[in-house]
Amino acid sequence: DEVDDPPIEDENPPAPAGVNVMNIILVAAECAPWSKTGGLGDVAGSLPKALARRGHRVMVVAPRYADCAEPHDTGVRKKYKVDGHDTEVSYFQAYIDGVDFVFVDSPVFHHMQNNIYGGNRLDILKRMVLFCKAAVEVPWHVPCGGVCYGDGNLVFIANDWHTALLPVYLKAYYRDKGLMPFTRSVLVIHNIAHQGRGPVDDFYHADLPEHYMDLFKLYDPIGGDHFNIFAAGLKTADRVVTVSHGYAWELKTSEGGWGLHGIINESDWKLRGIVNGIDATDWNPQYDVHLKSDGYTNYSLETLQTGKAQCKAALQKELGLPVRKDVPVIGFIGRLDHQKGVDLIAEAIPWMMGQDVQLIMLGTGRPDLEQMLRQFENQHRDKVRGWVGFSVKTAHRITAGADILLMPSRFEPCGLNQLYAMSYGTIPVVHAVGGLRDTVQPFNPYEESGLGWTFDSADANKLIHALGNCLLTYRQYKKSWEGLQRRGMMQDLSWDNVAQKYEEVLLAAKYQW
Ligand code: ADP
Repeated sequence: DEVDDPPIEDENPPAPAGVNVMNIILVAAECAPWSKTGGLGDVAGSLPKALARRGHRVMVVAPRYADCAEPHDTGVRKKYKVDGHDTEVSYFQAYIDGVDFVFVDSPVFHHMQNNIYGGNRLDILKRMVLFCKAAVEVPWHVPCGGVCYGDGNLVFIANDWHTALLPVYLKAYYRDKGLMPFTRSVLVIHNIAHQGRGPVDDFYHADLPEHYMDLFKLYDPIGGDHFNIFAAGLKTADRVVTVSHGYAWELKTSEGGWGLHGIINESDWKLRGIVNGIDATDWNPQYDVHLKSDGYTNYSLETLQTGKAQCKAALQKELGLPVRKDVPVIGFIGRLDHQKGVDLIAEAIPWMMGQDVQLIMLGTGRPDLEQMLRQFENQHRDKVRGWVGFSVKTAHRITAGADILLMPSRFEPCGLNQLYAMSYGTIPVVHAVGGLRDTVQPFNPYEESGLGWTFDSADANKLIHALGNCLLTYRQYKKSWEGLQRRGMMQDLSWDNVAQKYEEVLLAAKYQW
């Protein structure tokens, strides 16, 4: 069936970057499809391909957590000092969709794909020290297509605290010594809540000259002086990006900056918010591979009403819920923790169960919240499914089969699920923070504009109010509902758009504009 073939990306390539072609190396602790715990993994898997389509030479460096088919051993072996010990790594490489994917291999990463940030504080720190040291030298040692990238015309993109040591190493080991003189670094903040904090003495594990200590030292009123990797990375990187405008603003406030707001305010001149894109084939109802079996179907704007109805019926059947076209299906997908506001849903459950709705929740995380999901299901077997687990297939199927996606996150740097939802004709109901505020314009019934419902504080009553209005529209105003669906699906949320904005930042870093 021809319609089911994904588009060939090269058919209509974006304008090449011309004289501004750069070598770009994105370094991240996770990279989909090989490793993923959340949005960072998706970004690392997608943004590089879109940058490559703009004509740049692009590489991703990630740890090698598990055996996988494509990457091959390059035979390159190098030793780096971690806590005074020489530690050997080897480099694996694969060229996929125009991007060099390089994996740093060491026993410390093995079998950690389901536990990327696991272990005690010092173990994680040492893994990231090794990873960052090994990543900076990739352009020197690892041939890709026969030729190393070299350090001229090179920009690194580091991500979150896990790789925030990279800009610091670049400076301390190389730039300060006259090496890599043309190499620059950009640090992306996906989530400021995790910062690589520890006691001041952790500094000695980072293996840096004594005078670098001050970059890492941060005072906070509760713990006093402490060691903070994100702080040092933010100060050292040539440019800083975060994943939405809303979050960029929040990071500068004392509530949103989690102790780093002072540094972020000082870095304001080099900070930019860029909303993430979504993968045009992976998360596209027209080509989604998870909708090709078990009664699901691919659909597009033209086949939205029949296609989505079929997916809804398939979802209800698969999960053993009553198969009913008229009942609104509400979905939730995400990590079960305080950030995602699962407890607000819990508070709203008694009200929700008084409505004629079905609620499907998918997530893993805090054991008490996992237990809560199971309990909801047991108490309301004809209305609720609480799926505890990490299942990409189920996430896709819920996104396609649900009418409404609930995202009551307390904070949300960008959020991907609301973007996926909108491109599947599923209407988001969200707490208006960070990226959710940027991407979900509230429905205006007078103008027939907007994309979903928002509420302005993390409060169960506000959630109920927004969801109540959403349900009313679903039940009584079919035309408005279809309008919301169509507007959501017609947005251009592609990475190609996003890559252009990143390119501007990378150029600014390179030329110090
Ligand atoms: P975060 O990065 O804070 O976890 P995002 O919304 O940016 O949140 O990204 C979450 C990503 O992880 C999405 O791709 C989402 O579909 C996926 N995801 C989260 N929980 C699960 C789960 N239990 N099963 C499958 N996918 C999940």
